[in-house]
Amino acid sequence: MSGWIAIAGLGPGAEDLVTPEVRDALAEATDVIGYFPYVARVPEREGLVKHGSDNRVELDRSRHALDLAAAGHRVVVVSSGDPGVFAMASAVFEALEAGPAAWRDLDIRVLPGITAMLAASARAGAPLGHDFCAINLSDNLKPWALIEKRLRLAAEADFAMAFYNPRSKSRPEGFARALEVLKEVCGDARPVIFARAVSTPEEDLRVVPLPECQPEMADMRTMVLVGSSRTRVITRDGAPIVYTPRSTP
Ligand code: SAH
Repeated sequence: MSGWIAIAGLGPGAEDLVTPEVRDALAEATDVIGYFPYVARVPEREGLVKHGSDNRVELDRSRHALDLAAAGHRVVVVSSGDPGVFAMASAVFEALEAGPAAWRDLDIRVLPGITAMLAASARAGAPLGHDFCAINLSDNLKPWALIEKRLRLAAEADFAMAFYNPRSKSRPEGFARALEVLKEVCGDARPVIFARAVSTPEEDLRVVPLPECQPEMADMRTMVLVGSSRTRVITRDGAPIVYTPRSTP
């Protein structure tokens, strides 16, 4: 019985952006567990059982994974991007901490992946080249008031910002409010990058000055990057380059 559990990031979408380490773990796995669309990205093969589940059942899914590993299975829990960024790694550790003591002896590893923020930033140039912060705009797991407070303080501190889960159908008003706060605090024209479905065939990138940003420009497949007051846009034929200089005088 040599079960293990690997919590792996599949990257933003493209096959080329899956790390060799994650590929190797998937090749040795007996079970793959995760949200349906991510599990669907893992090719079928004999001896591999795929357990796709719905969103928002992260703890059930984590306990299932830990149970299987404890029973000797080789389990890969998949997330998109990096598993430590608003994803499954924390959920598995929450389940581990609250679960049976025997789970603590399991062979458990986190395998990093390319997170959406970095894939999007690379497409645009280097908007995160100086200090930045990442904020999850979903209020599923925290109150909106806290999101708004962090947003406002980050804008006041002049961080460049990366927003995950900017806007869902069930709560479209959150992102509209976020844009209002940014327009109020930042005032002038900072570049905002709307990077949708990066590294997939539907990829779309737009660079929009903050005053012209509209809530409809983002959906749940979009990463939103907001420049700091130092962020530059290099215009040229074709897509502009957005970068933040390494230094602040
Ligand atoms: N663990 C993931 C993030 C999960 S939260 C990671 O590290 O990337 C899901 C959010 O990530 C989406 O709402 C979207 O904002 C962003 N995202 C994920 N994949 C993306 C992609 N290919 N292009 C743009 N944004 C993406």
